[in-house]
Amino acid sequence: MVTTDDNKTILDPFGTTIIEDYDKLYEEFGIQPFKPLLNQMPNPSMYMRRNVIFGHRDFDRVLNAMRNHQEFAVMSGIKPSGEFHLGTLMTAREVIYFQQQGAKAFYCIADVESYEDNKIPFERSEKYAAGNIADLLALGFNPKEGYIYRQFTERRVKDLAIIFGRTATLATMKAIYGERHIGLYLSALIQAGDILMPQLKDFDGPKPTVVPVGVDQDPHLRFTRDLAARFHRKYGFMLPSSTVHKIIKGLDGSPKMSKRKPMSYFTLHDRPESIAKKISNAFTGGKPTVKEQRESGGIPEICPVYELCMYHFEEDDKEIIKVYNDCRTGKLLCGEHKQKAIESVLKFVKEHQQKRKKYVDRAKEILQVE
Ligand code: SF4
Repeated sequence: MVTTDDNKTILDPFGTTIIEDYDKLYEEFGIQPFKPLLNQMPNPSMYMRRNVIFGHRDFDRVLNAMRNHQEFAVMSGIKPSGEFHLGTLMTAREVIYFQQQGAKAFYCIADVESYEDNKIPFERSEKYAAGNIADLLALGFNPKEGYIYRQFTERRVKDLAIIFGRTATLATMKAIYGERHIGLYLSALIQAGDILMPQLKDFDGPKPTVVPVGVDQDPHLRFTRDLAARFHRKYGFMLPSSTVHKIIKGLDGSPKMSKRKPMSYFTLHDRPESIAKKISNAFTGGKPTVKEQRESGGIPEICPVYELCMYHFEEDDKEIIKVYNDCRTGKLLCGEHKQKAIESVLKFVKEHQQKRKKYVDRAKEILQVE
């Protein structure tokens, strides 16, 4: 786990992440700001336009490939420990976005990590995985232009992890991930294999590769970039690039959505009534009384309902600016806004659940599971 000197920011891919100030991440962790690249992006995504993707590592390399119509890859995945939630929705949409911009897309089922981190046996994670891939396909991932695989059965990833392991000392692993059981260190090496596999000759590598990550996953990128440099001579690896997105707040106002706090999050497969109830009860940036809110407005910057719409469920930039201004000036009240948010979320969720049913068999076929 990596921390700032004052311990007010903690990035731990296997545990707690606390971010007091995103700007500090530029200075202290070497994440580069994304904003200066925005004007050069041929077709920036919603997350890019809205500064949800706020940072990157060496994304210029991928941008050049995009602008010059050269080959590049995008790589991400999901830990099969449950249904799709809003964090996995975000990375899936980012992968699909880059695939639509011409990337060869790699999507990994991180079943070794769910075994090591969540103690989920492989027989059980297989079941989640098939559902997760059905979600991915329903969201628009094109399997013909992509490669979907399980860590546990992908030989090339395991081979890379073994080869990388020779140079990873215990001191390095402790410095990046804290004191953990060996299986988690192994899973970090396997993730490095995931990130660099698109650059193997089997996939016409080396090539620029972008890994869209939540900021809590940035330590994996730092670790893998170091390995890519060490093994450059053997494999010709380029340092992998990343885009880094902010972490959406929990609906209950906690810093992050978490399974441990059921009122803080929902999945795309929860019952509509349950989702509606959680949004109705969500913390807001509103004032204690209607009168006060009409007079002095709300604070969208701290409001999870605003984030829910801005990150995921309002595609129109003009509409989200209007919501922001109407909240600030007291024109929009929280009850009214929550109702609108519930309608948008349930519309999406119901349509998605219908679509997803059609892809379950295809997902099982891709993963070769029953
Ligand atoms: S009006 Fe909407 S954005 Fe503003 S504080 Fe209330 S719920 Fe949040």
